[in-house]
Amino acid sequence: MNAPAKTDDFVAAQAPAKIPDGVYAETVLAVEHYTDRLFRFRMTRPAGFRFRSGEFAMIGLMVGDKPVYRAYSIASPAWDEELEFFSIKVPDGPLTSHLQAIKPGDTVLMRKKPTGTLVLDALTPGKRLYMFSTGTGIAPFASLIRDPETYEKFDEVILTHTCRDVAELKYGFDLIEEIRNHEFLAELVGDKLKHYPTVTREEFSHKGRITDLMANGKLFADLGVPALDPAVDRGMICGSTAMLKDTKDLLEKAGLVEGSNNKPGEFVIERAFVG
Ligand SMILES: Cc1cc2nc3c(=O)[nH]c(=O)nc-3n(C[C@H](O)[C@H](O)[C@H](O)COP(=O)(O)OP(=O)(O)OC[C@H]3O[C@@H](n4cnc5c(N)ncnc54)[C@H](O)[C@@H]3O)c2cc1C
Repeated sequence: MNAPAKTDDFVAAQAPAKIPDGVYAETVLAVEHYTDRLFRFRMTRPAGFRFRSGEFAMIGLMVGDKPVYRAYSIASPAWDEELEFFSIKVPDGPLTSHLQAIKPGDTVLMRKKPTGTLVLDALTPGKRLYMFSTGTGIAPFASLIRDPETYEKFDEVILTHTCRDVAELKYGFDLIEEIRNHEFLAELVGDKLKHYPTVTREEFSHKGRITDLMANGKLFADLGVPALDPAVDRGMICGSTAMLKDTKDLLEKAGLVEGSNNKPGEFVIERAFVG
């Protein structure tokens, strides 16, 4: 085959953008699109990269010759050999307008230090752990519900996931099915994990905002559990700013106190995105 003519275009195409120093450059292994707004991807995990289930990291792409980073919850558990992320697609988003087009073999950047408050260490001991999520806010809980430590520390784990449409719940349903069929997790998790999906804009078995379903008691009645009790219940919240505030208000009204990495408490919160 003849070598292509050495035009400027050819030279540019052959010179990949330089990866910045001090960041990981990982290879995309799999991509799954759920809706026109949501997808997940898995990528290689750097050998020295340690994190606690529930933490987030800064991930990015080279856009032109500049890296663009955004905060992303690591959706895979700490023991997994690969890293998984669950992502929104913002049509004109500086990162996700490009990230939504990644394919196996592409490179994704990741800064080296993970952090976050949605970790088991930030909670005082309890019996029942609630994970309240909306939209991509399920991502840190996708990590925690696949971590055996969650079930060592709690007798019962309740994952609520609220989206606009039923199609947006699919990632959550897939996670539950993966756990039920998993070689080791299935037995360890048993019937400790309860999934409570709700939608706000379509007919569905559970309809409405999670805060309304808590306030009117339907969540607890449906699950067959007593109302919130600071002696046994613990909470983690991940969603929009408004959802965090409303859920936090309900937990505080029930007597639960917010904690952090430095001062463990009865519930912890983290925004799923800024805006
Ligand atoms: C601690 C933390 C953890 C995060 N974890 C995730 C995650 O696991 N998955 C994920 O997709 N995003 C996550 N985000 C949001 C993420 O950092 C980016 O905002 C998102 O990827 C969009 O990037 P962008 O550059 O395309 O658009 P941006 O300029 O960052 O966002 C544009 C606008 O899109 C909306 N938006 C951004 N992210 C979301 C979202 N996740 N859901 C709904 N609307 C959104 C907001 O209105 C925002 O103002 C997290 C943010 C924080 C602070």
